[in-house]
Amino acid sequence: MQFRTDKKSGGKLSILGMGCMRFPRNLGVTDTKEAERLILGAIERGVNYFDTAYIYPGSEEVLGAVLAKAGARGKVSIATKLPLVLCRSGADFDKFFDKELERLQTDYVDYYLMHMLTDMALWDKFRSWGIEDWLAEKKRRGQIRQAGFSFHGQRDEFLRLLDAYPWELCQIQYNYSDENYQAGVTGLKKAAQMGLPVVVMEPLLGGKLAGGLPPDAAALFKQANQALSPAGWALRWLWNQSEVTVVLSGMNALGQLEENAALAESSVPGMLTDAEHAVYREVLEVFNKSYKIHCTGCNYCMPCPKNVNIPGCFAAYNTSYSIGFVAGMQQYMTSSVPTSDNTGRAVQCVECGKCEKHCPQHIAIRRELKAVRRRLEPWWLRLGIGAARAFLGRKMLP
Ligand code: SF4
Ligand code: SF4
Repeated sequence: MQFRTDKKSGGKLSILGMGCMRFPRNLGVTDTKEAERLILGAIERGVNYFDTAYIYPGSEEVLGAVLAKAGARGKVSIATKLPLVLCRSGADFDKFFDKELERLQTDYVDYYLMHMLTDMALWDKFRSWGIEDWLAEKKRRGQIRQAGFSFHGQRDEFLRLLDAYPWELCQIQYNYSDENYQAGVTGLKKAAQMGLPVVVMEPLLGGKLAGGLPPDAAALFKQANQALSPAGWALRWLWNQSEVTVVLSGMNALGQLEENAALAESSVPGMLTDAEHAVYREVLEVFNKSYKIHCTGCNYCMPCPKNVNIPGCFAAYNTSYSIGFVAGMQQYMTSSVPTSDNTGRAVQCVECGKCEKHCPQHIAIRRELKAVRRRLEPWWLRLGIGAARAFLGRKMLP
């Protein structure tokens, strides 16, 4: 495992961090045995940075329980986050933080991040609620070691936020398709220049740069290097940059962990050749033609009060361009199952707008769902299903 220095704390962080948002699940419940295997397997391979959050279902509890059982708390850094979206006043800071310590079975957090800070206006609101004094007090007591923020917003807001508080870490969305999106490369370089460790999330763009890569793009990678998977290409692009400190990977199978850890053994800044950079450019050209909606499948917009399966609809829509219309349609039929009244179809959206407030990618969900409906529920399909429903004597489509 390669390590990079956190210049603020002086600590060494593994370049591969474990993103704990999506532990393996079994019948909708976190598979704690498999999660334990992954967490301990990661530690064995040198991973020492674990990223979780209050709002990741079951994540803090599982991570805390595994580390406590293995007596491994002292071997790793835990990053967790204050759920800004759930805070109604300064009184909530302690409420959430105390709960997080309890779930994590610890009395301190190594990196405490403001979760999903988007702009200065939001930070000013939290300032007016006393967040700076609160952080200072927690740090004085040793309950928070380093304070940081995770970011989903426009680049200019990121640059302003960097100057708005003596941050000790930032977490940004970054990958070869998002080089100029959100904080982007400009934000990355500015943060690094200021001595902040930069933790990268969405290195695979919710899987779109791995298994979800359009076949033509995946073939370009394969042609250039038979042995390296698309996920490996994506990780190496990040580790090639000295400004990147830790890359979070939401590994939920041992095979993924092994592959990523093996790459992290030898990945160093400046390792990519000009020929490899050219391959990324070619892949990106194909990729950009295929992906219409920038949804990462994070699920922050869910649940929808009308049961629209928002990420499922978008994934199927993207597939209908990246793989083909029939594949997209099949995916839509299985993920949102437009055959009964309450199953997650785009057509069920009543445009309340609740989901859009939570989307870190700032997707115009209502507008895009209309596009999904136009493409994947065309009139002839609706007519056909309506006829089948009438024949079967039950209402299947409006
Ligand atoms: S706008 Fe549509 S998809 Fe979003 S929460 Fe409301 S009903 Fe659901
Ligand atoms: S629409 Fe936005 S919030 Fe919902 S899954 Fe996609 S990226 Fe996440």
